[in-house]
Amino acid sequence: MDNQSSLSEFHWIMNMVQTIDAGLVVLDKDFKVQLWNDFMSNHSGLSARDMQDSPLFSHFSELPETWLRSKIESVFLLKNNAFTSWEQRPYIFRFSNYRPVTGISEFMFQNMTIIPLASLTGEVTHVSLIIYDVTDIAINRLQLDKANEKLARLSQTDSLTQLNNRHNWNTLIANEFKRVKRYEQVSTLMMLDIDHFKKVNDTYGHVAGDKVIAEVSRVIRESVRETDFAARYGGEEFAICLTNTSADKAIILAERLCKAIESALVIEDGNVIQVTISIGMAEFTANTDTVDTWTKNADSALYKSKENGRNQYSIF
Ligand code: GH3
Ligand code: MG
Ligand code: MG
Repeated sequence: MDNQSSLSEFHWIMNMVQTIDAGLVVLDKDFKVQLWNDFMSNHSGLSARDMQDSPLFSHFSELPETWLRSKIESVFLLKNNAFTSWEQRPYIFRFSNYRPVTGISEFMFQNMTIIPLASLTGEVTHVSLIIYDVTDIAINRLQLDKANEKLARLSQTDSLTQLNNRHNWNTLIANEFKRVKRYEQVSTLMMLDIDHFKKVNDTYGHVAGDKVIAEVSRVIRESVRETDFAARYGGEEFAICLTNTSADKAIILAERLCKAIESALVIEDGNVIQVTISIGMAEFTANTDTVDTWTKNADSALYKSKENGRNQYSIF
């Protein structure tokens, strides 16, 4: 190849390096910049002249210096490519995101490849950082994750009460059963049923009945601890699992719930509706062989509360 054509080839390559839609940075062993392409200039506001021969880290205080140094040093040492993804670190250089479609992100998500650059003798004297703008991909993925989370939540939640639905309760209580059994701990299962609820429906209508169910659920949601879980077990029946709580401690919640629901008022069509609930509780013991047994025990305590006049709690 004559000098003229290798010169123009070099010219083409430099043109491509400058205009490619990715950041290209060449560093020497002292982390001094030897090449800084247009992508990097445009996004950082620092020109190739500003950067030439200047230590990279003196310009970008936000760079994760210790981490990046050791990453680059290992490329010098091992002569292998290194790769980092936006999932580990959203970005290397904090550049603004200008893309109109993905304008919800303030900054540009980036992947980066570091490649060793060998001299003619085979010694690695420089490395090249290639910065890819992956904002579109990242935003799509994050939105998809968010939508999936929302779907998962919806599929576990009862829409009228915002409590766990029966299906999710079954999963949660099965896990809790395994846990208390394995670690020999104590938890209490509580079943709740609204008293004379048929009368509410018959007197005020189904819509009013639904409002009452929603109100009772609100009280339940606001009364349980973060570590407890509650569910709409059936129509106007609820279940609560109080983790690491014995039945005599669970009484405190049972009393509070009875009082709070008794004094909660639902107003529908000018009518003031008041309801009470009955509660049955069963502590997990060595004899509780299955979730079914545990539930039946709480249920028979609930039956006792109903028998004894309602608006009260009983322990199995
Ligand atoms: P008890 O004190 O013995 O519990 O009497 P009760 O009238 O509440 O009897 P029961 O628990 O058997 O009644 C359940 C009633 O709840 C029957 C059903 O019509 C009503 N119900 C079940 N699910 C819903 C619902 O989602 N909305 C409304 N409005 N009513 C429901
Ligand atoms: Mg019932
Ligand atoms: Mg009832």
